[in-house]
Amino acid sequence: MSRYDTIWYGAQLATMTAGSAPYGAIEDGAIAARDGTIAWVGRRGDLPDEPERLADRAVDVGGRWITPGLVDPHTHLVFGGDRVADFERRVAGQSYVAAAGGGTGIAHTVAMTRAADEETLYRDAAQRMRTMIANGSTTIEIKSGYGLDVETELRLLRVARRLGHELGITVRTTYLGAHVVPPDYAQRRDAYLALVCDEMLPRIAREHLADAVDVFCDEIAFSPAESARVLDTARRLGLAVKVHADQIVDTGAAALAARYGALSADHLEHTGEEGVAAMARAGTVAVLLPGAYHYLRETVKPPVAALRAHGVPIALATDCNPGTSPVTTLPTVLNLACVLFGLTPHEAVAGVTFNAARALGLDDRGVLEAGKRCDLALWNVGSPAELSYWLGTSRCAGVVVNGSPVGCEPREGGRSA
Ligand SMILES: [Zn+2]
Repeated sequence: MSRYDTIWYGAQLATMTAGSAPYGAIEDGAIAARDGTIAWVGRRGDLPDEPERLADRAVDVGGRWITPGLVDPHTHLVFGGDRVADFERRVAGQSYVAAAGGGTGIAHTVAMTRAADEETLYRDAAQRMRTMIANGSTTIEIKSGYGLDVETELRLLRVARRLGHELGITVRTTYLGAHVVPPDYAQRRDAYLALVCDEMLPRIAREHLADAVDVFCDEIAFSPAESARVLDTARRLGLAVKVHADQIVDTGAAALAARYGALSADHLEHTGEEGVAAMARAGTVAVLLPGAYHYLRETVKPPVAALRAHGVPIALATDCNPGTSPVTTLPTVLNLACVLFGLTPHEAVAGVTFNAARALGLDDRGVLEAGKRCDLALWNVGSPAELSYWLGTSRCAGVVVNGSPVGCEPREGGRSA
């Protein structure tokens, strides 16, 4: 048998595999990796020899818990400026819809983003992304959608691709040109949709800048018919689709997402039973965004009971964005999802591992299992439920991406120098 590259041992494993103990837990476990892939998972006592004899590098993680590297399946990470002024207005009582229509809101971020050069956008987003990685994220989705013109949308997607390459984690990019109608097209919605469908999308597909296409289908953004035009175009170009659905009112967006076989429908605060049933039939993942719910002081919760009843997989994301969810750590989202939406801590962890990977169309990660990518997160906790328990305290002891440590890692034993 060829040697492993690394073995982590002395670990409590939350494998998140189905049909086993809660969290797929393995006590006193070990994980072995070869060429960036998990080659062996089990109890340390079942290893055929001492870890130091089996691997080039043996790491005693000192009883820490190891989960799959966390997956954040919905962010708007790259943007210019901030929306602190909106935040101040909102806590004083103004609604999101009023802000969106009042020359502030997304329009402000669009102006700040168009004015920012590529280097500035990269530097600011990289800082946010380092915080995400330090809190357990090893796969992050990034949407465009604050450019809303050809040049800036392409710039955002290029920055997103570069973030993945330079920070060494997986970034999945999503084109969200249909985020809102930009102010310069306010009276020409059709012309803007033509720009999205006939110019931007074909070019983005040609340059391989996006892995998926998203559309904001809601009363302050695009109607179901307008959204369908974008989804049709995406499908023609062979791109996967996602939908911002029913955040403000139920426009039938979740059912629309299902009709197009979307990877995910996201938000869903106002989605009815019919939309949930359609998602279940289509295998569309529900991505819940409790950060936005919290920041907007929403009162209508996503239909968690119906999602459970219909067996729709539930994922969670930071929705990191300047206007409605300036959240950069998934453990914060775990807490919010449990406290605000009533998810169990087990559902919450599944929501940022296995189900989140599925929301991005990735079946090579999200569980600790031989053959999967070796993306791990190490935690200073006594149980996996503790991941959802702390608020504002980092319990992450480091991450491993594709078999290699990123950031700090516990003490190392074994024979390697
Ligand atoms: Zn969003």
